[in-house]
Amino acid sequence: MSGGTSETKSVNFAMGNKVRRKIINFLANSNRDIEEIEGLVGKNTLDFHLNILKNAGLIGLEERTVIISEYGKNFLKGKKENGTEEIKDLSQAKPVEIAEIRQLLPCIADSTKFRVVANMSPPLGGILKILEPIFPRGNYSDKKDSLIIQKGEIITTIYGSGKVVMRMVKNEDEAREELENLKNIINETINKGVTPPPREKVRVELMELYKYLPQTNCRECGEQGCYSFAIRLMAGQITLDKCTQLKEPDYATNREHLEFLTTYI
Ligand code: SF4
Repeated sequence: MSGGTSETKSVNFAMGNKVRRKIINFLANSNRDIEEIEGLVGKNTLDFHLNILKNAGLIGLEERTVIISEYGKNFLKGKKENGTEEIKDLSQAKPVEIAEIRQLLPCIADSTKFRVVANMSPPLGGILKILEPIFPRGNYSDKKDSLIIQKGEIITTIYGSGKVVMRMVKNEDEAREELENLKNIINETINKGVTPPPREKVRVELMELYKYLPQTNCRECGEQGCYSFAIRLMAGQITLDKCTQLKEPDYATNREHLEFLTTYI
């Protein structure tokens, strides 16, 4: 490949597709059999995508083996150096187990719900951040080395150390079911051994913000009431710390939900 305009166009076209990016990232560390790639992206349009990658000079085919070309390797290296699309390797990661549920305590904010502390083994450590995109509402914090996931009312925090805290669960059965789901989602990604595709942006609804506000309409924030506050929050015109009620311990969980949701506004 000479790197001329037409080659650049065909590479851009090839890499502009999510499935083909997934394939090329999968090939970053080793050649793969067609069957392995089928397992990753499905069989239906695989020939079509491989042809486009081949025509762009990014891969070669030898019988049933797909090989990344030198040009493809350089392309990925360039992306990594530019920080535009870092290749993440999950091939060394081991599937996890929920080793132990240590506590089931009433939630501080809602005594009808429970807070569970469990342990994930082996700890996810450095790959925790890579897993963020597999959860539609997942947020990784470098500072705390933790991944917070919201699913309905339940907020789960996974720490790099292996500790898992799940809040607002109804009972132990629900906690076990949710922890099992969590384990399966994580292991499915680890078994594929590749970086999850970029996450679609989560849409936050106005009523969702309103739902978690105290709804006392006390006006201490200077707004007409909680609904007006929600509108301004949605528009990015006001911050959560202006709501005095959310600072009360009774609203700790509401605040946690709102802090999470506002990261998506
Ligand atoms: S301070 Fe909070 S609870 Fe009071 S009206 Fe404003 S948003 Fe509602």
